[in-house]
Amino acid sequence: MIVPFVDLKRQYLSIKPEINNAIESVIEDTAFVRGKYVTDFENAYAEKYGVNHCISVANGTDAIYITLKALGIGLGDEVITVANSWISTSETITQAGAKVVFVDIEPDYFTIDVSKIEEKITSKTKAIILVHLYGQPAEIDTIKDICDKHSFYLIEDCAQAHFASYKNQKVGTFGIAGTFSFYPGKNLGAYGDAGAIITNNGELADKMRMFANHGSLKKHKHQIEGINSRMDGLQAAILSVKLPYIDEWNEKRYHNALLYNELLSDVEEITVPKIRPNATHIFHVYSIRTNKRDKLQTYLEGNGISTAIHYPVALPFMQAYKYLGHHSEDFPVAYQYQNEILSLPMYPELSTTSVYYVVDKIKEFFKQ
Ligand SMILES: *Cc1c(COP(=O)(O)O)cnc(C)c1O
Repeated sequence: MIVPFVDLKRQYLSIKPEINNAIESVIEDTAFVRGKYVTDFENAYAEKYGVNHCISVANGTDAIYITLKALGIGLGDEVITVANSWISTSETITQAGAKVVFVDIEPDYFTIDVSKIEEKITSKTKAIILVHLYGQPAEIDTIKDICDKHSFYLIEDCAQAHFASYKNQKVGTFGIAGTFSFYPGKNLGAYGDAGAIITNNGELADKMRMFANHGSLKKHKHQIEGINSRMDGLQAAILSVKLPYIDEWNEKRYHNALLYNELLSDVEEITVPKIRPNATHIFHVYSIRTNKRDKLQTYLEGNGISTAIHYPVALPFMQAYKYLGHHSEDFPVAYQYQNEILSLPMYPELSTTSVYYVVDKIKEFFKQ
């Protein structure tokens, strides 16, 4: 049996006529960049989040960068973020001109360890970028308290957490802005690159739109220098078709995760992911831990099962951050976990039969 890590084709086939119609309409209307399909998607996304503004951009990395720039974060500032994430979260801090300050992850939930934030605060700290990693909300209450106490901006990187919630409130709506990626493999994925920012702050929304559009809100009136970061009509139309399905798809992922958890609960050598109380985890990634990770991965591969590692090297230990001079002891949990984590196949269309097959092969590996 072949179990791919993700299967984007199956999702496409389930909504093919709608998608194909949407693509044809965009082409018929030659609405290739920005335009009505983009505005329609922005409105639908803002409405589903219950926020005032959605600013579409070219990708999830730009969404973070534009947020930092619009907030005026730059040279001389420090931004606190988490040691285990995709590099977009931290590289954009540097690109804005500020200094990246990493914090270790908490052992149970893979998100930022809130007990280790205060010790990283200096007079230069301006913001905290949270990552709801794997689709699991970070411990927002405590982080919000810290941000309120020190007047820091709270930015939520929701690239892996579309419509995840914490205490019945959707993540992305707790801070000054929430940033999203619609990279094809994300829970809500386009058929190319796309991203968005949500906020309730109108002044900030204008600044973001302006910065993302060469520094202008009106054609040929460039108030500042900006960048070119825009969503194209095809991606917007595809995302508008997919948006009504996202809750159902997230639920299916969640059920697959619960099934994995249940079936793997008696495998001593494995730690299955925990779900934070009061949070809705949308399982962008289903990551187990085991100290036989590499051998298990090879065994599964040999049995037709594709897996992945999110991420094999935690950010502070990357060559790109060598200049910060970090050691393994500075981020002990992230350091340990990078050798133990293994992401199993996870997507809404993953069949129960496939989950059982993956689990059987894992059990077989540990019995030999
Ligand atoms: C995917 C991702 C991004 C970047 O999104 P792109 O659309 O690929 O630029 C940022 N942060 C996290 C946590 C991600 O997983």
